[in-house]
Amino acid sequence: MPYQLTIQSVIRHASRLFSDTEIVSVTADHPQHRYTLGDALERAAQLANAFKSIGLKSGDRVATIAWNDFRHFELYFGISGYGAVTHTINPRLHPEQLIFIMNDASDKVLFIDSMFVPLIDAIRPQLKTVEHIIVMTSDAAAVGEYLMYEDFIAAQPNTYPWPEDTDENQAAALCYTSGTTGNPKGVLYSHRTMLLHAMSLSQPDALGMGRNSVILPVVPMFHINAWSIPFVCAMVGTKIVFPGPKVMDFEALTDMLIAEKVTLTAGVPTVWAGMAQYLQKSGKQLPHLERMVFGGTACPPYLLDYYTKEHNINVIHAWGMTETSPLGTCNTVLPMAATSWSAEAQRAQRLKQGYPVFGVELKIVDDAGAELPWDGKTQGYLYIRGLWVCDGYFNQPDSRGNDWFNTGDIAVIDQYGCMRIMDRAKDLVKSGGEWISSSDIENIVQGHPDILQAAVIATAHPKWDERPLLIVVPKEGVQVKGEELLKYLEGKVATWWIPDDVLFAESLPINATGKVQKNDLRDIYKDYRHADFG
Ligand code: ADP
Repeated sequence: MPYQLTIQSVIRHASRLFSDTEIVSVTADHPQHRYTLGDALERAAQLANAFKSIGLKSGDRVATIAWNDFRHFELYFGISGYGAVTHTINPRLHPEQLIFIMNDASDKVLFIDSMFVPLIDAIRPQLKTVEHIIVMTSDAAAVGEYLMYEDFIAAQPNTYPWPEDTDENQAAALCYTSGTTGNPKGVLYSHRTMLLHAMSLSQPDALGMGRNSVILPVVPMFHINAWSIPFVCAMVGTKIVFPGPKVMDFEALTDMLIAEKVTLTAGVPTVWAGMAQYLQKSGKQLPHLERMVFGGTACPPYLLDYYTKEHNINVIHAWGMTETSPLGTCNTVLPMAATSWSAEAQRAQRLKQGYPVFGVELKIVDDAGAELPWDGKTQGYLYIRGLWVCDGYFNQPDSRGNDWFNTGDIAVIDQYGCMRIMDRAKDLVKSGGEWISSSDIENIVQGHPDILQAAVIATAHPKWDERPLLIVVPKEGVQVKGEELLKYLEGKVATWWIPDDVLFAESLPINATGKVQKNDLRDIYKDYRHADFG
C-alpha cells in the first residue's frame, strides 16, 4: 500500500492507543504540569486550527525558541501535523546568528518561552519575515507586547482533520548547526526521515523505549528534535518527564528522576558530570534509572565507571550530528566475542561510540578517499550515508547531491563494526607526522578529582610541527600543579602524547550546544610560544 510515513500517522496512532500516557513538565508558569498525551494532541489540534485561522500555508516555517516542556511537545505535532515545518532554534546562539537563521529560514511565526521575551525585543526590528510572535505561557504579565499561547489556541476546536495525503518526503522540521565556522547551516528533515529515525532509535539495542519506559530527555528539543525522543514517545506510548529550564539544576533533575520513576534519560556528558558531583555530595540514589545515554561529546571514562559501579546504570554511548538526525551509532551491548574478554577490554569497548544502527552505513577513508580497513587500529575520515542523513544544506542547492556525508570526524572501526571517534579532524594535534587525539587527553584529565574542565589544543613547535597544550579549569578552591596533571596522564596515554605544558583558566569558551569552542580557544592562546622556540 502506498501508506505515507507522516507525523499525522503518528498522531492518529497515539490518539487511539496512548491517550492516557502521562506527560510531566516543569515550565516558568507551572512548577509541575501534568497531563496526558491525549490532552497534548487535542491541544496540537487547537494549534492546527489556529494556524489555519492566521492563513499559514503548508511548507511555511514556524520557529520555536523554547525549553523541553509540554507546549513545545504540542508544537512538534501541531506544526508538522498541519503541514508546516517546525524550525527549532537554540536560544544560546549569538543574537546575530539568531537573526541570520530566522531570516534564512523565512520563519512566519515564532513561539518563544517567556524568558526569551527580552532577547526577541532586542532583535525584533531585524527579523524580516516573522509575522506573529507567541509567548508560551498562561501568565499574561510575562508576554510583553506579544500574543499569549493560551489565548492563541483558546477559542479553537480540539479536533482537526489531520491531512491524510501529506507526502512523506515533505519537510517536517528544520534545525541549524551551531556554525563553529561561518554562518550556521540549515538541515531539513522530512516526515519520512524523522520517523524512520525514530523507529530505529526505539529498538532494543538502541534506546529500547516502550510503553513501560519512562524517559527524561535532557537533550534539548531546540537541537536536532531532542534526538527524536518526542516522536518515539508518541509512537510507542512512553511516559515523558520534561525538565523545562532546569537542565543544569542537578538537584531538580535528580529529584525528577526519582519521583517520576524515570527508567531512561539522555544528555551530554557535561550534564552527567554535574549530576555525578551532586549525587556524590547529596548521597542520593537513582533506584529506577536503568539506562543513561551519553552523546554530543565523548563519554569520559570516569563517568562510565561512576554510573556503572555506583548506580548500576547501563551507560549507553551514542554518536551523531545535526546532519544525521542525529543517530549514527549506539553502544548498548558488547559483541558476542566479549564474553571471554577481560573486564578492562570490555570497558574499553563500552567507551567507544558504538555500532551503526540499521538505516545508516559508515566508512573510513584516507586522504585520497580510499576506504580503510575495520581493524580497530587504522584511523580515517569518517563518512556516513543512510535513510536519515542529509545530502546537503537548506537554501544551498550547490551543497546537495552527495552520496556520502563527510562527518569531519576522525575515527577507527573495529572488526565488530564498533566505531570510535578519535577527534574532530580540525582538533587533532599533528606531532611529528603522527596524530594525537585532543579528546582522549581531555577525557582523562577530566577524571582528575581536582579538575572541572580540560581542553587540549595544538601549538606550533620548531621540531614536531605541533605539540599539545593542556588548558584546565580547576574545581573551586582547589590548588593543583601542572606537573601533577602531566604525571596523572603517565601510563594512560603514549608518552609522546603527554602535553609539554599546562595553562590554568577560570573558564573555557562553550558554544550553544555546550561544547568547548576550540576555535575561540586557539584564538585566545594564539600568542602562546612553546619553550623550545627559545
Ligand atoms: P554542533 O556541535 O556543531 O552543534 P552537532 O551537534 O551536529 O554539531 O555535533 C556533531 C559532532 O559532535 C560530531 O561530528 C562529533 O564530532 C561530536 N560528537 C557527537 N557525539 C559524540 C560522541 N559520543 N563522542 C564524541 N564526539 C561526538
